[in-house]
Amino acid sequence: MADKPFLASSRYQEQQWRANRTGAHPDILEFEKRFIRRMAKLDVPMFASEVIRSSQRQEDLYALGHSKARAGQSPHGYGCAVDLVHSVHGWNLDRKAWEVIGHVGQEIVTQAGLAIVSLAWGGDWKFYDPAHWEIADWRMVKDDYPWPERA
Ligand SMILES: [Zn+2]
Repeated sequence: MADKPFLASSRYQEQQWRANRTGAHPDILEFEKRFIRRMAKLDVPMFASEVIRSSQRQEDLYALGHSKARAGQSPHGYGCAVDLVHSVHGWNLDRKAWEVIGHVGQEIVTQAGLAIVSLAWGGDWKFYDPAHWEIADWRMVKDDYPWPERA
């Protein structure tokens, strides 16, 4: 997974700006920031491929069978989820590599001191989705969307 040259590249920097974060939950953004930084310290380049997802794109993913959720049924619609993938290999990592990533993520969740500490990892699901992290009780908090700015 380690790729020091890629970490130093402009492509890596460009990837960090790719996802739409407008309206994302502040805890998700904080988690993402810490996760990317931690993985970089381990010489592993990663980036958020998706945070906020439009209703149209959710319906498209549903139609293609890539998601079980329709518009309004995914935490991405409320900015309560982030997909974190490898800069070079994308989703194409073996189970062992994803387990390491999952471990690092869980470590950050417990250390971060986030207001909503409980994040669920898609790597723990039967519908295996190890790039995906979401606020565990997003269905309870989603009615507060849009999220207030945090000072
Ligand atoms: Zn996702």
